[in-house]
Amino acid sequence: MNYPYSLLAPGPVNLHPQVRKVLAEPMIHHRTPQFDGILKRVLARLKLVFGTEQAVYLQTSTGSGGMESLLVNVLSPGDQVLAIVSGKFGERWAEMASTFGAQVHSHMVPWGQSVDPEQIREYLNKNPRTKAVLCQACETSTGALHPIQALGKVIADFSECLFLVDGITAVGAFSLPMDEYQVDGLVAGSQKAFMLPTGLSMVSFSAKAQARFATATMPRYYFDIRREIKANAQGETFFSSPVALIKALDVVLEFILAKGLNSLYAEIHLRAELTRNLLPKLGFQVYPMNPSDSLTALLVPEGLDGQKLRGHLESKYNITVMGGQDQAKGKILRIGHMGYITSQEMQNLFAALAATLRDFGVTISEALISELVDKIRQSSLEQGFEPVPIHRGAKGESL
Ligand SMILES: *Cc1c(COP(=O)(O)O)cnc(C)c1O
Repeated sequence: MNYPYSLLAPGPVNLHPQVRKVLAEPMIHHRTPQFDGILKRVLARLKLVFGTEQAVYLQTSTGSGGMESLLVNVLSPGDQVLAIVSGKFGERWAEMASTFGAQVHSHMVPWGQSVDPEQIREYLNKNPRTKAVLCQACETSTGALHPIQALGKVIADFSECLFLVDGITAVGAFSLPMDEYQVDGLVAGSQKAFMLPTGLSMVSFSAKAQARFATATMPRYYFDIRREIKANAQGETFFSSPVALIKALDVVLEFILAKGLNSLYAEIHLRAELTRNLLPKLGFQVYPMNPSDSLTALLVPEGLDGQKLRGHLESKYNITVMGGQDQAKGKILRIGHMGYITSQEMQNLFAALAATLRDFGVTISEALISELVDKIRQSSLEQGFEPVPIHRGAKGESL
């Protein structure tokens, strides 16, 4: 089968055609009025996606650099930190915090489950000197969604404790208004819901967190946000700006906001719903108890190896989805719903998954395959993510 290549991982994701175009434009210098205009617009618009009145900062790093930045700008060695660990990314953040000298207590949540905010309240009542709670909004290794709003309410009762959230597969994928949810530090990454290549992280801090900038003593240089605050006040970034990525981000923000955040979330939700409702007909089973819309993790049918399935889907049908990591390796597939995904690509994915299962000896009727593909074709995805026209001048300025 000759499908065009489709990247349906939970990041990196397919790029919008308009983004690919802007990435191919000639380089401009980052200390130019032209670039300053773009940066200013991007920084202002990011606040809308983050749902905050605070500044959002851009960092040239992958998402993990943003996670590091959230820690080192507000914590000191020796600080007590509670890390909610429900998968790979939770583990990484806990490890990072102890690397920088925090006394980390990991609150372990079984893979596929979501944290119970009341247990966090109990912990904080017993450990009132805790300086920060760390949590993924969506733990991408399991596809589980965590109750960020409820956690925010709990943690806000503790005046010494900050709530730091890894929103790398959340911000831009579903509603997570930072201020309203009482989140004190939020990080996003370019290659997930922002539909860009890898290489940018975005961070924002509440007023409660900003008060720590001056007293936090974790070592930091590149990620010292105080440098960036000064530079942004001059309309610049402190280090050389990744001009191409920021220009591309400008394009993405333009169409996200033209489309409307709620319709973007609704579309991602619809892709997730179709996947969660229809793929079980092929024998897959939704893995997390409380699934996020950003991706769907599915247990593969009994007796099959997830790694082999995903490899086959890629080499024979030209579609990339991810498998599981660590304890979920071989057991699950992870299908991303973020990025530029056409209805046709969803149809191809479902047909190719069915064909893959057949290639592995599972009996699946033509009628079932047609039924699945038709359900997508008949869904409102068909009218879905059409590129919103973007009007830009030759030099990148908005007209
Ligand atoms: C992808 C991801 C990260 C890591 O981002 P990198 O860009 O690979 O550094 C961290 N947390 C979550 C929840 C993610 O999905």
